[in-house]
Amino acid sequence: MQANTEHPNAVPSEVLERIKVAVGPKGYTTDPEEIAPLCQSWRDNWHGWVPMVVKPANVDEVAAVIAICAETGTPIVPQGGNTGLTGGSQPHDTGTEIIVSTSRMNKVRAVDTVNNTMTVEAGCILADLQHHASDADRLFPLSLAAEGSCQIGGNLSTNAGGTQVLRYGNARNLVLGLEVVLPDGRIWDGLRGLRKDNTGYDLKQLFIGAEGTLGMITAAVLKLFPKPTEIQTALVAVPNPTAALALLSRATEAVGEQVTAFELIQRRAIDFVLANVPDVPDPMTGVHPWYVLMEISGQGAPDSLRDAVEGVLGEGFEAEEILDAVVAANRAQGQALWKIRECIPEAQNHEGQSVKHDVSVPLSRIAEFIERADKALTKAYPGVRCVAFGHIGDGNIHYNPAQPLGPEGANFAAEYSAVNRIVHDLISDLNGSISAEHGLGRLRRDEAKRYKSDVEMDLMQTVKDALDPTNIMNPGKVV
Ligand SMILES: Cc1cc2nc3c(=O)[nH]c(=O)nc-3n(C[C@H](O)[C@H](O)[C@H](O)COP(=O)(O)OP(=O)(O)OC[C@H]3O[C@@H](n4cnc5c(N)ncnc54)[C@H](O)[C@@H]3O)c2cc1C
Repeated sequence: MQANTEHPNAVPSEVLERIKVAVGPKGYTTDPEEIAPLCQSWRDNWHGWVPMVVKPANVDEVAAVIAICAETGTPIVPQGGNTGLTGGSQPHDTGTEIIVSTSRMNKVRAVDTVNNTMTVEAGCILADLQHHASDADRLFPLSLAAEGSCQIGGNLSTNAGGTQVLRYGNARNLVLGLEVVLPDGRIWDGLRGLRKDNTGYDLKQLFIGAEGTLGMITAAVLKLFPKPTEIQTALVAVPNPTAALALLSRATEAVGEQVTAFELIQRRAIDFVLANVPDVPDPMTGVHPWYVLMEISGQGAPDSLRDAVEGVLGEGFEAEEILDAVVAANRAQGQALWKIRECIPEAQNHEGQSVKHDVSVPLSRIAEFIERADKALTKAYPGVRCVAFGHIGDGNIHYNPAQPLGPEGANFAAEYSAVNRIVHDLISDLNGSISAEHGLGRLRRDEAKRYKSDVEMDLMQTVKDALDPTNIMNPGKVV
């Protein structure tokens, strides 16, 4: 084997040879063309290099690989669909790490329609799991724009949120059991489908949201729900975020937890979509400052929730919280309304540089957050195009100021840290979180230290040191 002059500290070839034996010829790649995209992030802001991507076929192979890594001190970057947005799933460029991918571990091991659970391997693609559940006449409610490529192991490791958290909770609320390979290579079989189990610490919750820093999730028992038979989708124009929240209260009072999704969209975000995404029409004849995409779903006959939705909207009009509204006549129209929301991140990419934030505050502080953030940023960067959208029903706003138009905006990306500081200091002031659903990864790791207390950081480090004392699991991420 030739010496690697570009990466002198790269994983030694003897270690790679041992791993090859453990997983067999289908279980790894050293092909640079296959490896390159796996070392790069979706937003193209993180790049790294590894000499090998390992693709075990089952939990025993994962355990064998991690045992070799533990013995030789070889760091591991666990990887699912590589759609994470915080640099957690990409390696560093030192070559000292290997990627362990779950892409070949994509079996549904069992579906239990009495227990309403599904036992699945970590590499199952989220959209495939939704279809599996649907085929069994059940719902697996986790849903996000990356669902065609993200994997359940990645979803659980980031505690993914998405569009239905309001009704069903984050990924963490959708899990009853886990199977995990620990950093020393032992397998923890916690694949229990129990809704009640008070036999000590809830260990599975440690690994959910740990972004691969405490172990490698290899399988999970997921909760299933009744499949909604009736779905009403409405796009509602409102004068401001306060009116949007009043509408949420009104809807919740009327139909309780049947309010499944409640997304806020600023007009500027719709303008970005209309300008940059083909075949998306303006949803209303008038132009309004803010919109809400609301979904209400339940088990009744088709259109059984229509009266309730129209009642809520009628009351909202009377209270002058609503400027205009479109209720989808069928699923296709509902999906067309969702398309507008789902295209926003892609559309914004065409608007030049922007600084993205995934923040949350208590619902009662959302309007104040947006108003104060807009004011502070406009003062610091005249002409900045502030954009807010996202899961307002969960207090989660994607707040993504875009560069001012013209030459003064050309260096906006250089202001990344300064913009973050303005937004995150405000979030901290409002007792919010600087990462509502995307995690910390590398992007927010150091930033978290500024906003979490010493006690909180110390507890996180204590957990990390206890489970992974030699720091081989995804080093440099989260803590
Ligand atoms: C267009 C788009 C829209 C998105 N929308 C949302 C959204 O609405 N809500 C949301 O929460 N996120 C969203 N995301 C972010 C991303 O899709 C989620 O974080 C997703 O859950 C990541 O899954 P993945 O399989 O791609 O994980 P990866 O990106 O591969 O990994 C993410 C992290 O988990 C670790 N990891 C992966 N698999 C395992 C495993 N088996 N065991 C241990 N650790 C593991 C990785 O090391 C990394 O730290 C979006 C991303 C894109 C590109």
